Amino acid sequence: MPGTLYYSTNRKSPSISFREALLQGQAPDKGLYLPEIIPQLSADEIKSFINKPYHEIAYDVTAKYLAGEIPPDELRRIVKEAYNYPVPLEPVYQRKYIMRLDQGPTASFKDFAARMMSRLMHYYLALENRSLLILTATSGDTGSAIANAFYGLDNIKVVVLFPEKEVTNRQRKQMTTLGKNVKVISIDGKFDDCQALVKEAFSDPDLMHMNLSSANSINIGRLVPQIVYYFYAFARLRVGNPDDNVIFSVPSGNFGDMMGGVLAMKMGLPVKRFIIGVNENDEFPKYLATGEYRKVEPSRNCISSAMNVGHPSNLARLVAFYGGMMDEKGVICRQADMEMMRKELFSVSITDKTTRQTIKDTWEDHNVLLEPHGAVGWAGLQAYLKDKGNDPDKDQLFVSLETAHPAKFPEEINKLLGFDPELPPSLQGIENKEESCGCMQNEYAAFKEYLRLNFK
Ligand SMILES: *Cc1c(COP(=O)(O)O)cnc(C)c1O
Repeated sequence: MPGTLYYSTNRKSPSISFREALLQGQAPDKGLYLPEIIPQLSADEIKSFINKPYHEIAYDVTAKYLAGEIPPDELRRIVKEAYNYPVPLEPVYQRKYIMRLDQGPTASFKDFAARMMSRLMHYYLALENRSLLILTATSGDTGSAIANAFYGLDNIKVVVLFPEKEVTNRQRKQMTTLGKNVKVISIDGKFDDCQALVKEAFSDPDLMHMNLSSANSINIGRLVPQIVYYFYAFARLRVGNPDDNVIFSVPSGNFGDMMGGVLAMKMGLPVKRFIIGVNENDEFPKYLATGEYRKVEPSRNCISSAMNVGHPSNLARLVAFYGGMMDEKGVICRQADMEMMRKELFSVSITDKTTRQTIKDTWEDHNVLLEPHGAVGWAGLQAYLKDKGNDPDKDQLFVSLETAHPAKFPEEINKLLGFDPELPPSLQGIENKEESCGCMQNEYAAFKEYLRLNFK
């Protein structure tokens, strides 16, 4: 049976297959692709995940989207290669857990999407004897995850743009020490500027011949792999009670992570609610409360730097799921079902002060080490409990996502707790490697010239 088609949220481009959407990234009408039909997993299928290794769950979930698009054996090989690291679920108190998505090669949750997406792209391109130039804007972790996942592939080149002052030394080194088919450029601007440069290149007719594509979470290929860990967490932590359900807390920036969760819910995972913690870029909680959407321009610099997003690109998808329509500029053309949204989603803005306090408290009270992004998630969970009158139901399952390894933020952790987090093996030795990095003004003309000179 062939897979479903993917429509553009702006509704002005034709629907296309997963393979086409994956290689294209953004739709020609600047909308984002979403499946026309959301595949379902039965209660029995979900139950069968209890003892399966992560990569087998990944196969079962993603095959629902990729059936007819890739031979089963290829898909099995891809998920087995991509998910060769653990996904710990750390108990905190009662039935409240931290899911650590930080054990991949670049120590951020973005490895989950990047490692699968790169392998799928490589597979399809080889079939067609084509090559691709990936442009990606990063506020830190996307760049390293993408660079690492695509490193050394023969039919794909990668250009990463990052805001000069908004990534840590370690994050920068993870990108600039690779080389080969990965080029890295710092921009004297903000993440949103980098994203704008990339978006302009995509819609520039002069660059059409370069086969540009995106690896940002506007690509549907990023979202599908991010559905899997929501099923995995529930499978591992559920109890016998057939009514058991789960509340996830997802620290969010561009809302790609939580879109994976929303897709999991729509596929049949018993999610009671999503808690969406954002940093001081509070456009979403304000929208949820008022129905009026206003971007935060320019975006605010917070210590959870990968979430410094003043206009999350995946909002268009979220609004579409609730029956509304938002264009790429953030204009709401049709209002979403706000009542339904408020029933399923709880969102809160967490200040840097609270983020820091949360890192201190979870360490001192529970011996659990969080970094700033995961702390926004955990603080969001605490805010939710407070809103509900402080923990009415002690048996409710909560899973809060830790999206990066604390060792990626040694300066912050050391200031708060007085020690350096232990480096995971993937980050060891990086300090001494040679860096290679260009730098550029925040101007489209300069970026375009660079692309024309280097990639013809
Ligand atoms: C990218 C990132 C986020 C935000 O994820 P979105 O999908 O953009 O919402 C959160 N934490 C870390 C560490 C990240 O790298």
